Amino acid sequence: MTELDAGREALAGAASVLVFTGAGMSADSGVPTFRGSGGLWRNFRPEELATRAAFDRDPLLVWEWYNWRRRVVLECEPHAGHRAIARAQAEGRVRLVTQNVDGLHQRALAEIPERSQAVPTLALHGSLFRLACIRCDYSRTDTESIDTTSPASLPECPECRHLLRPGVVWFGEQLDQEVLSAAFSWATNATACLVVGTSAVVEPAASIPRLVLQNGGTVVEVNAEPTPLSGLATVAIQGSAAELVPAILGTGA
Ligand code: NAD
Ligand code: ZN
Repeated sequence: MTELDAGREALAGAASVLVFTGAGMSADSGVPTFRGSGGLWRNFRPEELATRAAFDRDPLLVWEWYNWRRRVVLECEPHAGHRAIARAQAEGRVRLVTQNVDGLHQRALAEIPERSQAVPTLALHGSLFRLACIRCDYSRTDTESIDTTSPASLPECPECRHLLRPGVVWFGEQLDQEVLSAAFSWATNATACLVVGTSAVVEPAASIPRLVLQNGGTVVEVNAEPTPLSGLATVAIQGSAAELVPAILGTGA
């Protein structure tokens, strides 16, 4: 039996399947991962821009970078792997937790007319298309380009007039505790987990496949390269998300 057959079989026989994705999931759609060479913008590293300190120092610069990322992502399309996961969500066959902020999973699901069985995707790191007040609880979803002509043109909170920031989790920030505990509870209850395109080193996200294994579930990994998870996974398959995910989950067509 090939690794691919083993992966397919492990998921087909499972009562409750969790899909967990990272930046590598979107690489085949043309979205750069942070660690890949396409991830750089004007020679800044993401660690220099994706922090609260950077935003407080220079909100214009940080919004210019997010404007660029939002545009890059809107020009990309979900690939066959996103669509296979969306189909499985729509049919109530899987639940999805993602570290991605690009909205491609959500767009793939929105393309399916009959998706009422889908449980909403848990986005651990928020969304590029969410704008959130730095002071109060206000937030909204918005895909329009941000006006970065000057600091005064940046978007403001309609309730308290403080700046709106990208609704993503930055380096050094806590994940939303409700979203995180829902993800842990899904992982604890899953009998199988398909992990796609994540280096599986960053906590607490790295705990998700581990929780599945600890509770006796199987883990199938899809990644372009070996990761620290590969040796622990029940099945580890090397290759691209766009090819392997539909082969494992079925296209549902
Ligand atoms: P990472 O290192 O976890 O992701 C890259 C992983 O994907 C690597 O293990 C790599 O081997 C694998 N990979 C690359 N191309 C692949 C392919 N075609 N098919 C399968 N696997 C592939 O994550 P990162 O890029 O260092 O980013 C860290 C965090 O930054 C993410 O968790 C996310 O929150 C954020 N981020 C999000 C996006 C997005 O939303 N698309 C993009 C970049 C960064
Ligand atoms: Zn506010």
